[in-house]
Amino acid sequence: MRKKGGKNHLSVDRTIFWIAILILAFIGVILIKVFAGSPKTFYYEYTGLTMGTYCRIVVSSPNTNSKQLAEILFKELERIYHKYNVKDPNSFINQLNSSQGWVDLDEETFVLIDSALKFANLTNGAFDPALGNLISLWGFDKLDEKLPNDVPSSDAIQTALMKSGYKNVELDRRTRRVRLSNNVRIDLGGIAKGYALDRAYQIAKEIDPDCTGFVEVGGDIRILGPKFGSRPWVIGVRDPRKASSEITYLYLKTGAVATSGDYERFFLHNNERYHHILDPSTGYPAKGAISVTVVSENAITADALSTAGFVSAKDWEYVVQEYPKLGGTVLMVLNDGTVKKSPTMKIYERKQ
Ligand code: ADP
Ligand code: MG
Repeated sequence: MRKKGGKNHLSVDRTIFWIAILILAFIGVILIKVFAGSPKTFYYEYTGLTMGTYCRIVVSSPNTNSKQLAEILFKELERIYHKYNVKDPNSFINQLNSSQGWVDLDEETFVLIDSALKFANLTNGAFDPALGNLISLWGFDKLDEKLPNDVPSSDAIQTALMKSGYKNVELDRRTRRVRLSNNVRIDLGGIAKGYALDRAYQIAKEIDPDCTGFVEVGGDIRILGPKFGSRPWVIGVRDPRKASSEITYLYLKTGAVATSGDYERFFLHNNERYHHILDPSTGYPAKGAISVTVVSENAITADALSTAGFVSAKDWEYVVQEYPKLGGTVLMVLNDGTVKKSPTMKIYERKQ
């Protein structure tokens, strides 16, 4: 009997021992979860000016040097800026704009113009990459210089409109050539930042697939990976009429967000605000919205759809309901200050 009882004692002790080990292991896992990443993950922050605005690169690269990676990404943004800068007479885009007949395109420009035309078709021309003549008439192509302060005559606007519009851009997808008619000029200002952010993402992931952080150019953001490997980045959506207050916060671990607003580049004339997003159907700055924010899987979609959504603000119901089918979830601030959202926007407004 005693012998038997001793055995029981032994097995009870063993059970307690294993339970204790399990509890300790569990606590260990929790502690690792709580502390892993944050103290060890170092984020390098690079700030600079490019694409006519500010840029911020926040990156942590476990397999390479974060500072060097940030510098490489900044150089890529600069390269794209110079290539497609309509303000620079020697830029590639201006050479293209001055050429006659069919022009051979490099792979990058072909893909970019192809995407721009795709967004023009998807948005019924609200996004239009061939408004160069109209944009320069208004003077909104002068990126780093003084903003214009005069409204062009309606005759001048009509003339510029006749020399505008994506229907005048013919792309031969087989031979990868483009032909511009009616003297239109391509202006990729509504998509270039998004494209540059997607290229930065692509390069970052080629160099270190495990890198995390984000790249921001003038408020448009492409996420490289979740904060400390698991947490969302918190992005404030600015109240367009109050610089330092936010309408809402978006929590993103992947993807991109872009905002088009009337408050960054504008001038006032007779108390009226004239800004840089033009309505291709009128030739005047688009009316109806103050700002439009779009969340998407990639930055080029977010950028193009935020510009298009801004132009189509009078049809805001269509924009908030239908743009998710084009890949963009929308938040609009209309002229009267009311906020309209795609139903799926709440997914991003929740802490994940
Ligand atoms: P931001 O550059 O301030 O982020 P957008 O992404 O909306 O804003 O781009 C605005 C730029 O796009 C303008 O400066 C101009 O170069 C170009 N643009 C203006 N109107 C249109 C339009 N309807 N479609 C496409 N591009 C446009
Ligand atoms: Mg845009």
